[in-house]
Amino acid sequence: MSRPWNFAAGPSTLPLEVLQQAAAEMCDWQGSGTSVMEMSHRGKHYSRIRDEAEADLRVLLSVPDDFEVLFMQGGASAQNAIVPLNLIGRAGAGRADYVLSGHWARKSFNEAARYGDIAVAATAESGTVAGGRAYGPWCWLPDHAQWRVRPDAAYLHLCANETIGGVEQSVMPDMAALGAPDVPLVADMSSNILSRPIDFSRVGMVYAGAQKNAGPAGVTLTFVRKDLIGHALPDCPSVFDYANVAGAQSMFNTPPTYAIYIAGLVFKWLLRQGGVAAMDAASERKSRALYDYLDNSGLYENRIAPACRSRMNVPFFLRDESLNAVFLAESEAAGLLALKGHKAVGGMRASLYNAMPIEGVQALIDFLKDFEARHG
Ligand code: PMP
Repeated sequence: MSRPWNFAAGPSTLPLEVLQQAAAEMCDWQGSGTSVMEMSHRGKHYSRIRDEAEADLRVLLSVPDDFEVLFMQGGASAQNAIVPLNLIGRAGAGRADYVLSGHWARKSFNEAARYGDIAVAATAESGTVAGGRAYGPWCWLPDHAQWRVRPDAAYLHLCANETIGGVEQSVMPDMAALGAPDVPLVADMSSNILSRPIDFSRVGMVYAGAQKNAGPAGVTLTFVRKDLIGHALPDCPSVFDYANVAGAQSMFNTPPTYAIYIAGLVFKWLLRQGGVAAMDAASERKSRALYDYLDNSGLYENRIAPACRSRMNVPFFLRDESLNAVFLAESEAAGLLALKGHKAVGGMRASLYNAMPIEGVQALIDFLKDFEARHG
């Protein structure tokens, strides 16, 4: 079966093998006589699906034993509240620090501000000049050395990949070097989870909505170091208290069973591809090919500082914006879907998640070249 290439930012392309397996199992999951959607979340079939999903995810990311893996609901947006509700009261701190790198980090900050004393550790909300080039707001990242973290903050939050802006923090900061060795780092990895290894010695918590690199919308992958659990504020809803979710193996209430099942199929597909190491290498190759083409073209440009360009989401502009509509119509007709940029940024955006093969990126580059030859 051949399908168009889908560059959507999320929900986004899934491996065809996964969709085909799900289709084959839709009405009768492995001889059970029911679809996954129809089975009890406490029954033996679903327990196997859930347990395998967690075990595979632990293998993929080498998750240490002192971390809980929780399958939650509400998306990354709910975690913007759930994180402070669970962590800000730890040791009575009542305060947390945030790195502002773009739209999503800013949203996390705004939500957290409802729950305590929230400060900005570093921000890229105004432009800068680096290497003789000017970069606009949210198009660069402050160096770790410039971050100001309060040593008694309950945590430091960052967004590891800004899906809209196209900016990625590829290296997690060393909190000791920031003068805050006891401050756990909390990372929103919604749009780059499973595309690179995670150094769990440098994070206290990671969360990610599944709908980009890991599966369908509806489940949030949450990794929490065990010592950070059990400090929820009294107002924290019971279903969002990490202690309750962990204590019930993510079944404190009915979990999003079908989303977890599909994510589990994606995890098995990832293992067959060579795991996160293979995705890391592929992400490098795919994004490098596209950035190299954009940087050398006369028609297109990417405006992000090279050191922090996202490997997952590549925003780009046509220097002649009057061509935008024809570009989008022609690219769609050529079987390249969802290239329109987010409205906050404009222009175009190509998302290169794990399920997008190099062939899809090559098809995009071929189209860009052909379009440039005709309109450049
Ligand atoms: N953080 C990032 C980095 C995202 O890309 C998104 C969604 N695009 C969110 C948070 C919000 O996720 P959700 O819609 O699952 O709440």
